Amino acid sequence: MIAELISVGTELLMGQIVDTNSQWLSQQLSAMGIDVYYKETVGDNPKRMRDTIEMAIRRSDIVITTGGLGPTEDDITKETVAELMGEPLALHQESLDALERYFAGRGRPMADINRKQAMMPVNGITLPNHRGTAPGCIIEKDGKRAVVLPGPPSEMKHMFTTSVVPYLESISDSVLRSAYVRVAEIGESTVAEMLGELIHNQTNPTLATYASTGDVTVRITAKCKKGENASAILDPMVQRVQEILGDNVYTVKGEPLPTVIAQLLTEHQKTLALAESCTGGMVTSMLVDVPGCSAFLKEGLVTYSNEAKARLLGVPMALIEEKGAVSQEVAQEMASRVRENAGADFGLAITGIAGPEGETPEKPVGLVYIGVSSPSGTQVFQVNFSRNNRASNRLGAAQRALNLLRKKILADLT
Ligand code: AMP
Ligand code: MG
Repeated sequence: MIAELISVGTELLMGQIVDTNSQWLSQQLSAMGIDVYYKETVGDNPKRMRDTIEMAIRRSDIVITTGGLGPTEDDITKETVAELMGEPLALHQESLDALERYFAGRGRPMADINRKQAMMPVNGITLPNHRGTAPGCIIEKDGKRAVVLPGPPSEMKHMFTTSVVPYLESISDSVLRSAYVRVAEIGESTVAEMLGELIHNQTNPTLATYASTGDVTVRITAKCKKGENASAILDPMVQRVQEILGDNVYTVKGEPLPTVIAQLLTEHQKTLALAESCTGGMVTSMLVDVPGCSAFLKEGLVTYSNEAKARLLGVPMALIEEKGAVSQEVAQEMASRVRENAGADFGLAITGIAGPEGETPEKPVGLVYIGVSSPSGTQVFQVNFSRNNRASNRLGAAQRALNLLRKKILADLT
């Protein structure tokens, strides 16, 4: 099955809006084993839109459009697709009711022009929009399929996940299931090298790696017949990957590192306090992103200046002056003091030189000390990040700190 994506909207061509829809859809489709051969962007222009959709229908099995489902006259995607597929539109009462409810729920009258959004293909499948006004639809004709989705990403994604994925699975005799093994501290090329033999010999399941700063995901995808047990294909490979990559694997379920830490701390009813310097609250913020973090998070202090490290944490000024704020000794004091002051079970501290300024011959940009403290003791780790990228140094330090904390929690609690 070959899919083609068409993003509709003049604002996309003018660079006012970034086309995130097609990137997201490409990821979803490839994870389902559906190949995307072409992607286009076209403006709200009847002739060019018609030409683009016509060509797509000719050469691809599934054409997915996003955008151009609004109530105004220049929103013509659905009308154009329906016409090209030879499919009449008619007022769809359920959609009209849903639109009226949508506006009533917001205390606004529905404008007459919105009725257009409830005109749906007579023989097609109408896809309800639970996040906005415009329903989407699927039209099938002569072995070709057109899927018409709204432009706003939150509406598009929700509709795709709840309606289009089950549809695509229903028309295919096989399904793909993926497991996501995530690993910290080792870079993508090292991961690829460690998994070299598995990647080289992959058949079913297949393996793919992708990276973001301080974090690599290994996607393991099994293709199986409908009704077949995907776990039987996936689980042995997940286990092998985990064995090879070792204790830097922080999940086999795909969730991000802060979520893993939140689960660990919450489950064991342990608490955490943080003192951050060069990361400026980033680690605390990553943890606060996790719902329910109040169960374990006591406090996160941003102690950026020497004076703040002394006043808020009680790190002796003499020590800071003697060893420097970016030092093993100060990181040690920050971690143990923030833990003790807060009465927390774990303390995490980060102090480093994010750059581009502030380096000395002994202390280059990218040098970071991470202190991890618990009643079992305080350890400090030295990490050297890149010398020229402040943003990635900070993110890398935050990710590394979280992984060191995770290891400490596991070592203490299991
Ligand atoms: P439309 O359905 O064409 O009226 O689009 C509504 C809004 O959805 C646009 O103003 C954009 O903010 C957003 N949007 C439309 N297409 C895309 C796209 N391909 N990627 C990201 N956002 C989009
Ligand atoms: Mg538009």
